[in-house]
Amino acid sequence: MNIEENVKNLLNGLSENPFGEKVTLVAAVKTQTPSNINAAINAGITDIGDNRVQEFCEKYDKITGNPKRHFIGHLQTNKIKYLLGKVDLYHSVDRMNLAEELSSLGEKRGVTSEILLQVNIGNEATKGGFDYSEIFDVYKKVKALPNLKIRGLMAMLPDSDDNKLLCTLAHRMRDAYDALKSADENICALSMGMSGDYRLCIDAGSNMIRLGTAIFGTRNYN
Ligand SMILES: *Cc1c(COP(=O)(O)O)cnc(C)c1O
Repeated sequence: MNIEENVKNLLNGLSENPFGEKVTLVAAVKTQTPSNINAAINAGITDIGDNRVQEFCEKYDKITGNPKRHFIGHLQTNKIKYLLGKVDLYHSVDRMNLAEELSSLGEKRGVTSEILLQVNIGNEATKGGFDYSEIFDVYKKVKALPNLKIRGLMAMLPDSDDNKLLCTLAHRMRDAYDALKSADENICALSMGMSGDYRLCIDAGSNMIRLGTAIFGTRNYN
């Protein structure tokens, strides 16, 4: 696996989405060593995303090149304190009490956090996120919290070969994103797309993709 080559090919192949928006490539770096991550950054990666708090913290100072830091995994409220002020964008705000805690701890520490609301677009029991039908209610409630800035929406499509279904769900996410964006000029990110489905997601209007396998190869969890 040649990380540099993968990154260059991916970045060269990324064009604007059909809405004329630039697509940001976030490298999903879970299980990767700092040296692999730094190789990706040297090749042009500007944004990296972690899933686990402990990994994020252990690697934090070993990353070169000052990339933007994203947190893309499930976050327990009692671990917010380790991330506060170090994360540029939280993708995975998937429940109200996480938003509330992120804001209230931020208030105490003088930190405003940028977040995406995670939507469980496939209605899957195995995935977190708000129901599609409650996005606007949630948006209004979260908008009222003082130390958060909502930047958009995040979704993970189901693991399915049914491209028609995946396209429908991805377009549904873009519809919700457009509706929020027309009401709020701070909305700028629709984070949707992983190694297996990112092309389909970009075609549907995603402007932020999170790729691990396509950059680093198959993950080794040992
Ligand atoms: C691991 C992960 C990705 C990347 O998955 P790949 O299929 O390896 O590209 C994207 N998003 C989230 C939330 C992840 O946990």
